[in-house]
This record gives sequence, C-alpha cells and structure tokens, in this order.
Amino acid sequence: METASLEMKEVLATIREFVEKEIIPLEPLLLDHEYETLMTRLAEKRQTAKSLGFWLPQIPREYGGMGLSLFEHGQVSEILGRSLLGHYALNCQAPDAGNMEILIEHATPEQKEKYLMPLLAGDIRSCFSMTEPENPGSNPTWMSTVAAKDGNDYVITGHKWFSTGAEGAAFAIVMAITDPHADKYRRASQIIVPTDARGFRLVRKTSVMGERGAGWASHCEIEYDGVRVPQSNLLGSEGAGFMIAQQRLGPGRIHHCMRWIGICERAFDLMCEQAVRREVAPGHPLAEQQTIQNWVAESRAEINAARLMVLDAARKIDEKGQYAARDDVALIKFHVAGVLQRVLDRALQAHGALGMTDETPIAFWFRHERAARIYDGPDEVHKRAVAKRILQQYQ
Ligand SMILES: Cc1cc2nc3c(=O)[nH]c(=O)nc-3n(C[C@H](O)[C@H](O)[C@H](O)COP(=O)(O)OP(=O)(O)OC[C@H]3O[C@@H](n4cnc5c(N)ncnc54)[C@H](O)[C@@H]3O)c2cc1C
Repeated sequence: METASLEMKEVLATIREFVEKEIIPLEPLLLDHEYETLMTRLAEKRQTAKSLGFWLPQIPREYGGMGLSLFEHGQVSEILGRSLLGHYALNCQAPDAGNMEILIEHATPEQKEKYLMPLLAGDIRSCFSMTEPENPGSNPTWMSTVAAKDGNDYVITGHKWFSTGAEGAAFAIVMAITDPHADKYRRASQIIVPTDARGFRLVRKTSVMGERGAGWASHCEIEYDGVRVPQSNLLGSEGAGFMIAQQRLGPGRIHHCMRWIGICERAFDLMCEQAVRREVAPGHPLAEQQTIQNWVAESRAEINAARLMVLDAARKIDEKGQYAARDDVALIKFHVAGVLQRVLDRALQAHGALGMTDETPIAFWFRHERAARIYDGPDEVHKRAVAKRILQQYQ
C-alpha cells in the first residue's frame, strides 16, 4: 500500500524528529510524577509545534489545523504515539480531539466562539462525560444522568466516572437523558457544561493501575448535582446524543489504533536494542536466543499487519464514510489492542527487571494501555457486533 505522498513523507519525518528530540526527553517528568514542571515544559513545546505548523493535524485548515485526511492523520498519530506525550504536544490528545471534531460538526456559532476556538488554540482543555459507575458503559443507551428542562435551562443530575482529563478542564461534554420515553437511541443528548457551573463537583481522580495522574492524564469521578446550564448549551439536536457519540468513535478508533502502533514501534525498538546490548553470558547477547528471535519476528509481522489493517480502514472511512467501514473499525479496535498487549509484554520481558521499572516507558504503557481493550468499546462488544453481521450473511 502506498502510504504517503512525497510532501507527507517530509511532514512525517520532521514530526518524527520533533518527537525524538523535543518530546521524548520530557517523558521522565511524567514517569516521576513531576506534573507541574512537565506542563510548563510541554507548554513551550506546544508553542514550538504551533510555530512549525504542526498543530491540530486532524482539524480542517479553516479551523487552524493541518487539514489531514484520516488516512494521513493516522500516520502522524503513529509517530506521535512513539512518545507518552506526543499527541498532547500537537493538541490532538483524547478526549479533546474528539470533542473538537464534534464541536466543529454540531456546535452553534456562539458555542464555537466560546468553547471550540480556545480549545483549538490550546488555551483550555475539555472532557467527555458519558460513562457512569452504576451503569454499563458498554451499553451507552442505558444511563441514569438526566437533564430536565426548567425555564430556559437544563438542570443536570447524575454521576459519572472515567471522565478523562476533567481535572483542569474548562468544560465537559455531558451525555444525559433528555427524553426517557423516546426510542433508546434518541433518549440522550450531549450538553456542554462549564466546569465552574454550580453543582459540578469533581469527586476524585480515580487511581488507575496505581496512579491518580494529573490534569489531562487523569480519570475523574464527577457529580452533577442539579447543574443548571442554558438550553443553548445543547449540542446538535435534542435526542442526538447517541448518534453524535457514534460519529465521534469511528475516527477516534483510528487515532487510537495508530497511536498504539506507534507505541508498538517504540517498544519494538527498545526490545531489539536491549536484545543486542544485554549479554546473558560473556560475548553472548540476548539476541542469540531463539525465544527473543521469535518475539522479534512475531512482533514485526503483527505490527506490519496491524498497520495495514488500520490504514485500510482509515482510507475506507475517508472514501466511503464511517458506516461502510464499521466492520473494519470493529476488527481493528480489538485486534490492534491485542497486538499492543503482546508486543508490550514481550518488550517488558526482554528487559527483565529493568522492564518493571520506569526507566523506560514500557511499564507505564503496559499498565495504562491495558485499558485499550476496554475503552471505546470492550473487545467482546466489538467481536460480538462484527461476528453477528458476518454470520447474517450466511443465513
Ligand atoms: C483509561 C480509560 C479512559 C476512559 N475515558 C473515558 C472518558 O473520557 N469518558 C467516558 O465517558 N468514559 C471513559 N472511559 C470509560 C469506558 O468508555 C468504559 O469503561 C467502557 O465503555 C466499558 O464500560 P464499563 O467500564 O462500564 O464496563 P461494563 O459495561 O460494565 O462491561 C464490563 C465487561 O463486560 C463485558 N461485556 C460488556 N458488554 C458485553 C457484551 N455485549 N458481550 C460480551 N461481553 C460484554 C466486557 O468484557 C467488559 O469489559 C474510560 C475508560 C478507561 C479504562
């Protein structure tokens, strides 16, 4: 598959150099939990990225982005994924990237002015508040948070968790039931809620795999205790919440999968470097062991195949739309998450005790990217959906 034009190859090479030279050296600050220093240094790097024209790769040019297709952005996402901090540096980190996309598509001019423009500029951050502790996130048509109309306002009451990046976010896009009697796909709406609204309470940052994180790298529990916002904060039409969420997920899954491939590539490099450097007996590097050779060959094959699958799905979305690509997207979501787990596991094992430390990013990824098999739809949900559609063709 021809993956990139000459111009795109140059862009990719320059972004890669930027990530290697400017961003990867900041990783120890994240691994050592030095969040304040990290954010200050990252703010400088973001200015550099902006001045180089590498800002918002997936956002149309008229909104100040690079205007890349999904296929092209996928390739950028892979390079950014090589670092723990790559996506944040170019302001295309989840969940802000998805929020930007839905605001561009569905926000009113006033909403765009107030929420989208500062988000695009990198002046504020946001979060997406859908999952609830009391209800299954894997069935997003079932939730308890309600937005009741009162005069010109909505009054939102509910309990969410895993709102990634809520700490320090300026606003949340909240999924809430606006009509409990409607068809299950039309019950919920998405509503913009400023985090300084009365009744918005960040209960805690949930500890995830031993870390609470900070700022954009945190997962928060939130109580919406009668939060009052004007009805003009509704995103799109009432009852369109589920549809907008689905729209957000197609491209989002391509971004994630290509980010995971970037992680795989970095872990693969680290594994191979360790294999040739580490001697298990004088003059005998780990690389001589057949087990390691198997890991190298298997990982190479799995990563190459995964990349082709994801880029193929991205191209299909670009050319034929999300609906046509829904099976491809379901397949890559669980398949690439599995490749990621296996490659990280081999890379960690090849490093021995060093792999368990935070001297490399492998352990961080090993812990945190276990979630790849859960967020944006657990493996089982994707497998079930795609298998049902395949089997229908045989009936
Ligand atoms: C790191 C991280 C970040 C997240 N960020 C956000 C965010 O920013 N905003 C947000 O709203 N949410 C976020 N989430 C939540 C995420 O979307 C949900 O965790 C996910 O949708 C699964 O929902 P659940 O956790 O309630 O699991 P449940 O729905 O309770 O499912 C539990 C398990 O049951 C199994 N299962 C469920 N349904 C089926 C089925 N139909 N067939 C077979 N097996 C099934 C699966 O194995 C699944 O893992 C995040 C989660 C993580 C881990």
